[in-house]
Amino acid sequence: MNFHILSLFPEMVLQGLSTSITGRAAKQGKIHIDAVNIRDFSEDKHRRVDDYPYGGGAGMLMQAQPVYDAWQQVTKPLFSQEKRKVRTIYVTPQGEPFTQKKAEEFAAADDLVILCGHYEGIDERVLEEVVTDYVSIGDYVLTGGELAAMVIVDAVARLVPGVLHNDASAETESFHGNLLEHPQYSRPEVWHEKRVPEVLLSGNQKEVDKWRLEQSVLRTKERRPDLYESYRQMQECKELLMTQKLLHIDMIEAINRGAAQLVYRKGKEILLYHTQAGIFYHTDPEEKEEPYLYEWGEGLCERELSGANTLAQGALPSGAMVSEAMPDCLVLHQERYIAKAEQLFSLKHTMTCSHAVYTKKEKAPVSGLYRPDGKPMGNGLTIQPLHAEHADFVKENYRKMSPEYLAGRIEKGAMFGAFLGEQLAGFAGIHDDGGIGMLFVHPQYRRQKIAQALETYLVNLLLERGMTPYGQIETDNDASLQLQEKLGLYVAKSPVFWLEK
Ligand code: SAM
Repeated sequence: MNFHILSLFPEMVLQGLSTSITGRAAKQGKIHIDAVNIRDFSEDKHRRVDDYPYGGGAGMLMQAQPVYDAWQQVTKPLFSQEKRKVRTIYVTPQGEPFTQKKAEEFAAADDLVILCGHYEGIDERVLEEVVTDYVSIGDYVLTGGELAAMVIVDAVARLVPGVLHNDASAETESFHGNLLEHPQYSRPEVWHEKRVPEVLLSGNQKEVDKWRLEQSVLRTKERRPDLYESYRQMQECKELLMTQKLLHIDMIEAINRGAAQLVYRKGKEILLYHTQAGIFYHTDPEEKEEPYLYEWGEGLCERELSGANTLAQGALPSGAMVSEAMPDCLVLHQERYIAKAEQLFSLKHTMTCSHAVYTKKEKAPVSGLYRPDGKPMGNGLTIQPLHAEHADFVKENYRKMSPEYLAGRIEKGAMFGAFLGEQLAGFAGIHDDGGIGMLFVHPQYRRQKIAQALETYLVNLLLERGMTPYGQIETDNDASLQLQEKLGLYVAKSPVFWLEK
């Protein structure tokens, strides 16, 4: 990922970010940070970049021209690749508050431009032309945007795959799923006569996890009642969804993984948004003539017609309220709403899938499939994460998803290959919504239990991460449905319905 900082004090940003984890990530090429001095673009013989504000008032203002020229130099090469405006953040106390959610959203970009103001700020006209996001790091006024830019780079960089050695740690930290992190302890066991809580020394991981969750909930309730309220609402939704666990596993897992935003709940009717996958999930277990979904959709259409709704399809832009966004992927959990939803949201019913869910807590047996210690089986088989060099093989052999999506999954460490010696025989992965899928075994290597090995590997990997493994199988794919049942997954009786652009 590339960060481009536009500033009057580039050395401040570069020095600050050159140490510790961001410094190491830059050295390893996982991130790239460049800082451009806006003053280098001044056309004034004294290299001035500021002037008095029209209408009077205290202080000086940064002028439009040097800022614009600096921005153009940085973004020109990027425009030709992407043919669209590069995400450009102006850090300002007038912006939207910077949050973990926003950091996650920014981390999905390849390039981020961050514009730092100074003095009393920047001429409004250039901001209107270049800025896509106005972001504040808090309700206080700094002398310049450099510290704010550093805060953003730090928080975003650590979400880039490979920057933290342990990628799982970014997933379990404070703000994940609206809960603050539990307290942590390290050696010694006793310090200032205070003992580490007994349960953490017990070696019983289940008990440890339970304790940590309880502590997270307590801490959030005490310190951040606002976050706690969102957590509580989501738990209520989860309880409702659990009454049909197999049907709703996609929604339940989105909540468990901290990736769900509640768009609305009306009685038992729920609409969730999956923040990582950009998917809306709807369920309405009680038969109703008019679900609230229709009213919500009609409201969106009216807003669009009146020009008030600028939130078109695609990844939600910064600061967008999910409740105002037109879905471009909607998963319905009841068939009766398909026709009306297609019409309301201009979507097409593309797939009917059944959930296959691994409901046991203990891992699936691996004997005869693969060795969990990573060593080769008798036939030479190992299962390993895939890397960029395998992307072509995956793209050629899996046409159901776009090449960009598959490359992204590989980069996130979510694709795994079955290797026979050096030879890649097949692969499977975890979708951005958390489901297992993208299974392929090369015809030459079929009937050797490779598909079973790959799927069992993913089931056990997800269990290790405390998740419920599940996949979505198209209802006419008998071979896959049979494989799921053979592996001990339960297939839901009622399917779900994918509506897409
Ligand atoms: N007059 C401006 C206003 O009231 O919005 C404040 C200008 S401030 C003194 C100078 C620069 O510091 C801003 O242009 C902005 O880039 C940065 N800055 C100050 N406070 C900030 C904050 N809380 N978050 C992000 N950037 C901030």
